[in-house]
Amino acid sequence: MHEARRQAYLAAMGIEVWEQRDMTPAAKSPIESIPEAPVQAVAEPAPRPVRPAVPAPPQAIPAPSAPPAMRADVAGLGWDDLQARVAACTACELHANRTQTVFGVGNRSAELMIVGEAPGADEDRQGEPFVGKAGRLLNEMLAAIGLPREQVYIANILKCRPPNNRDPRPEEVEQCEPYLMRQVELVRPKVILALGRIAAHNLLKTQETLGRLRGKRYEFGAEATPLLITYHPAYLLRTPRDKRKAWQDLVQARQLLAGE
Ligand code: URA
Repeated sequence: MHEARRQAYLAAMGIEVWEQRDMTPAAKSPIESIPEAPVQAVAEPAPRPVRPAVPAPPQAIPAPSAPPAMRADVAGLGWDDLQARVAACTACELHANRTQTVFGVGNRSAELMIVGEAPGADEDRQGEPFVGKAGRLLNEMLAAIGLPREQVYIANILKCRPPNNRDPRPEEVEQCEPYLMRQVELVRPKVILALGRIAAHNLLKTQETLGRLRGKRYEFGAEATPLLITYHPAYLLRTPRDKRKAWQDLVQARQLLAGE
């Protein structure tokens, strides 16, 4: 990882770059001690009893089974038809209050696919995922690993904004899921990066805490696409102490993309 890029990311993430009073040649800036550990070392320390002591092998996560009617509905659809289907969707109550659907954005042949939670107010207004404050941080995070936003594909678990940004309800996720699954099929990414608890829980079908889910590689769907979990940028804005772990996750994603 290029040092200047790493520092730019850390600065954008709000990780302090301290000036040292003693700048003898041997004195190291604390930023140098920020761990850029190999993938294996990213695993959470202090395993609890339920956790195997050795790092778990990649876990195969079956593609979720959506209601048959919905699955049949989008199977085989191309991008334009899928987007039109989403735009016209009234399958759950969220359609009633949306300004517009937020389908997804970016490179439709991307190697990295980002999956977030659901549109917020800014996204509902603009029709594009991650355009608010959290989106700006996401852009910085991606740039730091050498991936401009335009180079990845970004989508959400839900295509419509839940009122007051409440958590998505299971029935809403169930109705929306086939759209995201079809997007994954069409993009065929090399790596999927799930942002935050909601994306992680719904893609992996688990209720495990995010802290215990991140730092491992999963295999998603029929293609066994490598899937990583990291913190949601909105969470990182509220909880800066976890930014360094997010950086480790990004480095791991970069390594996977590079085939390491
Ligand atoms: N948070 C998300 O999870 N998705 C967005 O599109 C915006 C904010």
